[in-house]
Amino acid sequence: MIAFGPVPSRRLGRSLGINNIPPKICTYACVYCQLGRTIKMQVERDSFYEPEEILQNVRDKVEKAREAGETIDYLTFVPDGEPTLDLNLGRVIELLWPLGIKIAVISNGSLIGREDVREDLLGADWVSLKMDSTRREIWRKIDRPYGTLRLASILDGALKFAQAFRGELVTETMLVEGVNDDDDQIRDVAGFLARLEPATAYLAIPTRPPAEEWVQPPDEEVINRAYQVFSEKVDRVEYLVGYEGNAFAFTGNVEEDLLSITSVHPMREDAVSEFLARAGADWTAVRELVEQGRLVETEYARRRFYVRKIH
Ligand code: SF4
Repeated sequence: MIAFGPVPSRRLGRSLGINNIPPKICTYACVYCQLGRTIKMQVERDSFYEPEEILQNVRDKVEKAREAGETIDYLTFVPDGEPTLDLNLGRVIELLWPLGIKIAVISNGSLIGREDVREDLLGADWVSLKMDSTRREIWRKIDRPYGTLRLASILDGALKFAQAFRGELVTETMLVEGVNDDDDQIRDVAGFLARLEPATAYLAIPTRPPAEEWVQPPDEEVINRAYQVFSEKVDRVEYLVGYEGNAFAFTGNVEEDLLSITSVHPMREDAVSEFLARAGADWTAVRELVEQGRLVETEYARRRFYVRKIH
């Protein structure tokens, strides 16, 4: 199935997915991949489907969704592999423009060092690049790239792309316990993001069964620290911790709202105080959530934060 959905996406609203790569062909074999082990690793771009076939599939889905009165905010390339391996990506994006829906590409960024890949991605409205590590050994350990890929070329290509891209560029950093979650490493990534200046830097943790059983998410304290370190360098940082629930829904219910907000970003103690004052509530609800283990109290730079429990 080349086109699927539309499905709700926290980052992209109602998203119609485009699977332009057969399962699972990728340039990486990430230890945390939810699609399991990479079946075929390759770095050569290839033609997997005819661009017109992809267009036809997407157009059918869009028509069906519109007939059903469903809205679509984005057409999103989110395949069972790496979307920029598709040699026809740029052409397909052009073919999709007349549908009048914004186009997103969720890429691991491994081929962004190539000029043709950057050219193709310039046609999109929203692009996400993976940024798990800026250190070669750690990058190799977590993303397990194809042997000929070079991290320096990827980082350089990402900077070149950020300069030229007129759409919304975001990054995604997956934190894995004991691999890329120590302070130095997080500071290195944050330093690079300061140069890249993404619209939003997303922090993710593995929440679904990973390719390798030993993969674990870091503790809430570590995730909060990473959030704060990133926030010092990037204007907007958000969690992608897999809790879709009622994110962003302001229900008027203090508990639900606190869980909803903290699932996207941690709240400082003073922000919680302000929120409670606006809701006409006291700290009882917060204390109960902490006692129930649904909210975690943690500290960073001598300030207290509240983070959603994610384990
Ligand atoms: S880049 Fe994405 S699809 Fe490829 S191995 Fe990593 S997580 Fe899986």
